[in-house]
Amino acid sequence: MIPLCIPEIKGNEWKYIKECIDTNWVSSAGSYVNLFEDRFNEYIGSKEAVVTVNGTAALHLALVSLGIGKGDEVIVPSMTFISPVNAIKYAGAEPVFVDICRDTFVMDTTKIEEMISSNTKAIMPVHIYGHPVDMDDIMRIAKKYDLYVIEDATEALGSEYKGNKVGTIGNIGCFSFNGNKLITTGAGGMLITNDDRIGERAKFLSTQTKVVNDNKSFYHPEIGYNYRMPNLLAAFGVAQLENIEMYIDIKRKNAQYYSEKLSDVSGITLPVQKEWAVNCHWLYSIVIEDEYGISRDELIKILEYEGIESRPFFMPVHEMPPYKGCKHGKMDITFELSKKGINLPSSVGIKKCEIDKICSIIKEYSK
Ligand SMILES: *Cc1c(COP(=O)(O)O)cnc(C)c1O
Repeated sequence: MIPLCIPEIKGNEWKYIKECIDTNWVSSAGSYVNLFEDRFNEYIGSKEAVVTVNGTAALHLALVSLGIGKGDEVIVPSMTFISPVNAIKYAGAEPVFVDICRDTFVMDTTKIEEMISSNTKAIMPVHIYGHPVDMDDIMRIAKKYDLYVIEDATEALGSEYKGNKVGTIGNIGCFSFNGNKLITTGAGGMLITNDDRIGERAKFLSTQTKVVNDNKSFYHPEIGYNYRMPNLLAAFGVAQLENIEMYIDIKRKNAQYYSEKLSDVSGITLPVQKEWAVNCHWLYSIVIEDEYGISRDELIKILEYEGIESRPFFMPVHEMPPYKGCKHGKMDITFELSKKGINLPSSVGIKKCEIDKICSIIKEYSK
């Protein structure tokens, strides 16, 4: 079986985790927690980093750290993993959905302004499958309407927008270290910001707003969350981060190889990289057009039969039961791509001969 996307665990992971266990520092007070935050800041180019137990927690923490809650609206794409939308609801706010671009699969920035109301507090661009959202547009609109920007960069760790790593451009950026992401800690997340006050606030809220009195008793001035990652997982993360540049390099080369092999297949559309972007190609994704020989879903079945795991693009979140009835704009591209888009195997460890096999099957069924 060629899996869709599995982790690459070949570095110091075991050594650092063993050290946590040998020294009894397994929980959040251990030194790897701060080290992981520092190293992540260095890599991404941000000032403040706050580790969390997963990416969804980082997104929730981002919203509450900015004071977003009841009565507020947050603009988000409908073509996304559901986490950012659920996080908006956890905070008590309402999602407002916009359509995506046909070529990059991410939020269409020309569709945002028409959805802004007096209740809008933030825009949440989601850099899905690795391609960045056009952040200059997002920041211009945010400035014009005085909105916050929270980047869901969970699928685009290492991708760049005009020379800056995604996640560093808005007020807050969020990352995930789930098992299928570029680097993993099993489960985990990170919130980053260049604003000291937001960073401090996020860390305070993520540690149960714990204040230690002189006599060592705990005082909590407001409702906090237990979102801090334990040392065991942070140790895992530090080891993964040591290899991140290599992983991104491999992913990008694999994507290039896929695109070369598929360039002469008719009826499919290959992923792009805008001139202002570096696409980490977290999941190599193509569109099965009407002109291709069979449907996207038929192709998924054939690939499965051949021992190849693939996945259809996300279904529109605004159509799911908890979000039916939420405000949204026209969703033509979201609907179309959710029926035609497919993610192909993209593990760092995938072999060239495996990509060859996948591409030859895709070629075989083309008209
Ligand atoms: C993976 C992912 C998240 C966060 O997921 P966790 O499993 O909570 O770490 C958030 N948004 C998107 C778009 C994702 O793909």
